[in-house]
Amino acid sequence: FAPWDDPDARPLIEFRGVTKRFGDFTAIDDLTLDIYEREFFALLGPSGCGKTTMMRILAGFETPSEGTIRLSGQDIGQVPPNRRAVNMMFQSYALFPHLSVWENIAFGLKREGQDKEAIEARVAEMLRLTRLEKFGARKPHQISGGQRQRVALARSLAKAPKLLLLDEPLGALDRKLREETQFELMDIQEKTGTTFVIVTHDQEEAMTVASRVAVMNEGRLVQVATPPVIYEQPNSTYVADFLGNVTIIEGRARRSEDGYTLDWAEGQPPLKVRSGLDVQEGARAFMAIRPEKVEIHRNRPEDDNVLRGKVIDIGYLGNLSTYHVEMPDGRIIRAQNFNTERDTRQPFTWDDEVWINWTAACGVLLES
Ligand code: ATP
Repeated sequence: FAPWDDPDARPLIEFRGVTKRFGDFTAIDDLTLDIYEREFFALLGPSGCGKTTMMRILAGFETPSEGTIRLSGQDIGQVPPNRRAVNMMFQSYALFPHLSVWENIAFGLKREGQDKEAIEARVAEMLRLTRLEKFGARKPHQISGGQRQRVALARSLAKAPKLLLLDEPLGALDRKLREETQFELMDIQEKTGTTFVIVTHDQEEAMTVASRVAVMNEGRLVQVATPPVIYEQPNSTYVADFLGNVTIIEGRARRSEDGYTLDWAEGQPPLKVRSGLDVQEGARAFMAIRPEKVEIHRNRPEDDNVLRGKVIDIGYLGNLSTYHVEMPDGRIIRAQNFNTERDTRQPFTWDDEVWINWTAACGVLLES
């Protein structure tokens, strides 16, 4: 499933040069983006970067200051929210407290004037889809938080929108329930074939559920790609740092026989890096390396990049440990080890002198 790679695929949503200003503040800045049918698309970025504004534009609660937005090829810039095949599910769920689960789900269908049988069939289908068959008669205060979340989802899918917008849909759930519900959400999205656009603060959640992730900063798209590409091939230190742990080392790029190396510290070997870039000789550049790609050893290993340092901090997470290894110039490189039983190495401790190593292909060269 990769319609974004298919030149013949028609996008469901097309943003073209969309800008949104509030007074002289630009919340969305010249944004161009396609989202495809059946996608589970995640918007990720720090608070205030414009995620909610993008959703509100899609829903029709805001009109762009500039640019066009199309849904199934139709310009929807002037189409009011209730006339768009778009629904939005809010973090608060906004369920009617005095109505039963069944009535909450039926609400939009009744307002549309659908006949009784059709409504009954559709609500039953939605209850089945969200595993709420037994709870139809209950009021929202008589069910759990996770069940309320599913009622909100059932209600927003009842009218079969082409596009469902989910603003922090799992924000109110505790971590464990959140993880379970992510898989449920993916399952429901796949079964209904509805395009989902989700806003989340939680990068792991975005990586888990999304077909593609858009990383935003100050109203702009920094990178739009599948989760593995965003994680393994970030286009900037901003994206590398936003998703997961990373060590970023600044230096000067040098061309070598098979790519680039990075000069980064006096008396240290240049780092061999992977690069898809065309970087000028001697230009300022950065290398991003994930801690799980860095191995830690007592004895000197063989590898592309081998450095000597001292353990100054240890984070024990049960299944794995994170080590902060200080280099002679004071820079810190993070290494992560899985604490498997098969691992016969002695665990490392504070002040241990260690070797760390990683292969050239794991270090990504970046220009900014
Ligand atoms: P959060 O994750 O905190 O919800 P966000 O990425 O969703 O943040 P938005 O709510 O889209 O951010 O806001 C983007 C920027 O636009 C913010 O700086 C916000 O203050 C500003 N903004 C949003 N709505 C308005 C408005 N109606 N009037 C003025 N400024 C606004």
